[in-house]
Amino acid sequence: MRGYLVAGNWKMNGSNAASAELVDGIIAGAPESELVELLVCPPFPYLSAVAERLRGSGVRLGAQNLSQHDSGAYTGEIAGSMLRDVGCEYVIVGHSERRALMRESSRIVAQKFQAALDCGLIPILCVGETLEQREAADTEGVIDEQLNAVLDLSGVEAFSNAVIAYEPVWAIGTGMTATPGQAQDVHRHIRASLEVIDASVAEGVKILYGGSVKGENAAGLFSNPDIDGGLIGGASLKSDDFLAIAEAAVAIC
Ligand code: PEP
Repeated sequence: MRGYLVAGNWKMNGSNAASAELVDGIIAGAPESELVELLVCPPFPYLSAVAERLRGSGVRLGAQNLSQHDSGAYTGEIAGSMLRDVGCEYVIVGHSERRALMRESSRIVAQKFQAALDCGLIPILCVGETLEQREAADTEGVIDEQLNAVLDLSGVEAFSNAVIAYEPVWAIGTGMTATPGQAQDVHRHIRASLEVIDASVAEGVKILYGGSVKGENAAGLFSNPDIDGGLIGGASLKSDDFLAIAEAAVAIC
């Protein structure tokens, strides 16, 4: 059993006080389950303070991005080793906002994925198509290109220590969730793409769905065989909303 991961991407939201209140609420209400792991990904400046509050709880800490470089003259960048140093276990790579707004190519995303692995972080690789690409029946082509960039650089074995998040761009922050059937089809495609190379890696890798997940639609999504949890944006900013999604995962186990 792969279990579930429910991950909150807080994006560029909050303050010192707000992140403390949010994480305390999550810790206080976190369900006890061996099979459901909770993760929060605050903005960089709040990582250390959130790490302190998480100590002794089962809730994990992650970052939203990292540099592809180890160290040196890269003003404003953050190395994976620094994230480990402040208590991160996970890091999101290739979020569609970074691909689109920061022009991160699949090659750079693959380098970041490898940089995360090199310093012992678990990368959460985001993949997903825009509405135009879906309407042009190119969803699988887009996912293949994003996935293959990582497979070419790091190999399939790398996915023994990684998570994939399918996030259709048209569903992020729009309230337009993929139907459970649409999401399951893409998740199956992703797992099948790994299966042909290494069946046991494919069986073990968690594939999260992201895109307007809420307490009300989480159960319908998570009850599909290839959906192993969610990467949550908007609904991760209120502890009750985030915990309702976690409870949906617990109820399915
Ligand atoms: C996200 O940005 O990763 C995301 C899934 O956002 P939302 O849940 O708000 O759609």
